[in-house]
Amino acid sequence: MTAYVRPRDLAEALALRAEHPDWMVLAGGTDLMVNAIHQKVPAGIVDLWRFAPIGGITVGDGRITIGAGATWTEVERHPAIREKLAPLALAAREIGALQIQARGTVGGNVGTSSPVGDSLPALLALDCELEVASVRGHRRAPYSAWCTGYRTTQLAPDELVIAAHLPLPGANVRTAWRKVGTRRAQSISKVMGAAAIEVDAGVVVSARIGLGAVANRPIRATAVEEAVRGQRLGAQAAEAARAALRASIAPIDDVRSTAAYRLEVAENVVARFFHVS
Ligand SMILES: Cc1cc2nc3c(=O)[nH]c(=O)nc-3n(C[C@H](O)[C@H](O)[C@H](O)COP(=O)(O)OP(=O)(O)OC[C@H]3O[C@@H](n4cnc5c(N)ncnc54)[C@H](O)[C@@H]3O)c2cc1C
Repeated sequence: MTAYVRPRDLAEALALRAEHPDWMVLAGGTDLMVNAIHQKVPAGIVDLWRFAPIGGITVGDGRITIGAGATWTEVERHPAIREKLAPLALAAREIGALQIQARGTVGGNVGTSSPVGDSLPALLALDCELEVASVRGHRRAPYSAWCTGYRTTQLAPDELVIAAHLPLPGANVRTAWRKVGTRRAQSISKVMGAAAIEVDAGVVVSARIGLGAVANRPIRATAVEEAVRGQRLGAQAAEAARAALRASIAPIDDVRSTAAYRLEVAENVVARFFHVS
């Protein structure tokens, strides 16, 4: 029989994780339940749905901290996230439909670490740092180094994701988000991306560009970030971005898209981040 535990506090959750690293960690279940019929029944389940120690969203110390248990509805509706971290609020709005957003969590998107996980490029562009914990203590990891391969991450078997910490962008930082799928809603991304671009007097000082669905994991488009530095915002930066991206990514062919289509769309998405509206 499968054991089922709803921990009372973080210490109990971490002790369970240490003792039973093979048990299923369940949050909203919107990824896990889809795959459940194809997987071996787990020996146990640690249920973190509405688990207070990893819930909530707080603003302070120049950053926004989003508990791993926060749902996409909570992220999308939070006034400070909408105002300061718009790419994440916009990504939240496009994750499945309302039912999925009400149940799916930040920790679940990060935990599944799909190359088409919609929040992940936004976490990259917004310079997220993840907080994870185990009985060995808490640690912080830059999200840019978190994904290690196709659906694999730095998470150790005894760890839990606790929160995402996101610095508030400065007043001279423009942010953007774009998802391209087969239709406007309920669609798995063909390409999606997010940007945080620091601009001074119309010139790009620095940029962080996160992209999804163009590699085996969400990636930072570092070649683009280098190419646009010092370029004038508008056509000049957009064309530099387009050329750098073309030379630096090799998307795959799969059932959703051809590699050629993905490359062209990714170029358009990235170039558009630098257009002046
Ligand atoms: C119909 C449908 C449409 C969808 N559409 C989209 C979409 O458009 N875009 C998109 O990105 N996703 C989509 N998804 C996928 C899913 O909803 C999201 O990835 C969601 O964020 C998963 O969150 P969850 O809480 O349900 O995760 P769960 O299914 O509970 O868990 C997912 C994984 O994360 C791990 N995990 C969860 N929390 C933690 C934690 N705190 N610490 C460590 N590990 C943890 C779990 O162990 C598991 O491996 C869709 C799913 C469905 C069913």
